[in-house]
Formats: sequence, C-alpha cells, structure tokens
Amino acid sequence: MSQITENVRALLAELPAGVEIVAAAKTKTPAEIIEAVEAGIRIIGQNYVQEAQAAFAAVGRRCAWNFIGHLQTNKARKAVEIFDMIETVDSIELAREIDKRAAASGRDMAILLEINSGQEEQKAGVQPDEAEALLRAVAPLSHVRIQGLMTMGPFEGDPEDSRPYFRVTRGVFDRFKALGLPGIEMRVLSMGMSHSYRVAIEEGANRVRIGTKIFGPRR
Ligand SMILES: *Cc1c(COP(=O)(O)O)cnc(C)c1O
Repeated sequence: MSQITENVRALLAELPAGVEIVAAAKTKTPAEIIEAVEAGIRIIGQNYVQEAQAAFAAVGRRCAWNFIGHLQTNKARKAVEIFDMIETVDSIELAREIDKRAAASGRDMAILLEINSGQEEQKAGVQPDEAEALLRAVAPLSHVRIQGLMTMGPFEGDPEDSRPYFRVTRGVFDRFKALGLPGIEMRVLSMGMSHSYRVAIEEGANRVRIGTKIFGPRR
C-alpha cells in the first residue's frame, strides 16, 4: 500500500464520526489526488484557481472541490465553475462577486465565512466582532449559501497554541447558530490542519483541512 493510501486510511479510522476531511492538495499532482480519493477522501481543497483548473481537468467530479485559499475577485468566475464550496469569504465585496458569477452560471454557491481568529497576527478573514455584520450583509444574496465558518490559526508549532483561535471561532459559530437567521445554515465548522486537527476537533470542528499528513511534505 502506498503512503498516501495508508495515511488516508489511518486518518479515516482515527476521526470521530461526523468529522469530514478536506485533503489540502496544493502542489500535488492529479495522480496523488486520485490516490487520496480512491483511498476514501471525498473533498479536495485547493488554494489557487489556476492550479485547481489543471487538477480538475484530470480528476473531474469524482470528488468535491473546496476553495481554501485567498480568492481574488477577478478569479471568482472560474472559481464558481470548479468549486462546490468556497471556504474563505471574508468581505461583502467578494460575496457579491461570487453571487453575481453564480447567478450568471445558473447555480448557487455554498460558502463559509472565514474568521480572523488571530486578529492582528493574520490578514485573512473577518474580525470576530465584525463577523455578524458580514453575515447579515451576505445573507440576502440569493446565489450564495452560507453554511458555516472557517478559520486558519497558526500553521505550525505546539497544537495547544492553536486552541484559543479555534475557541474564538467556535464561539462565533454558536452565536450565529443561535441567531437562527433564515437562509443561513451553521452546519460546517472548518478548523485544524495536520499539526492541530485533534485540538480543533476537541473545540468543535466537524471539518479538518489536512495536507502534509496525507500527502507528505510539499515540494
Ligand atoms: C495547506 C493548507 C492546509 C493544510 O496544511 P497542512 O499543515 O499541510 O495540513 C489547511 N488549510 C489551508 C487553508 C491550507 O492552505
């Protein structure tokens, strides 16, 4: 059994029921992606639209595709063609652009709002105290469907250092759920990477984005 298959099977065996993996496949070849899918991965994460187009051309719809990078508005049209979900919406401008492109393609786009749980330390994501305003601004758009929240947290280091970031995001998630806004589903909480997914799950993540632990180090 090759390493990718072995890694996927070990993860699937370890994760509690209800926690889904997004295999973060940046820099990985279509052959590597296909191997992960054949081992049981159902969602592939991509950070760059151009790289995703190439992978998508080879792999197609045998898995779902989630966008997990920073989406520039001028890439929204292409992104809407490929992705089943965009996990990183952090501004009303981006949400409006996705809405417009999705409408033009005759589809609805599932999105997550990205929370900047580290506040000063990271640039991407909406600040926790501005998230509700964004939620309420995005909610009326008819071709985007908010399904939950995503956060990054630290890329490496002691997993315990990630816990406060996940806690902040979980707090926003619970608050949004309690609002019960029409058309808003708070069902996906995407947090945790190879080094931090166990802590993320303890803090309520039901989706973890895992690259290195599946595919090995990036080239
Ligand atoms: C690369 C990446 C991951 C996975 O990182 P690993 O440490 O390789 O597991 C998760 N989320 C995002 C947004 C990424 O870009």
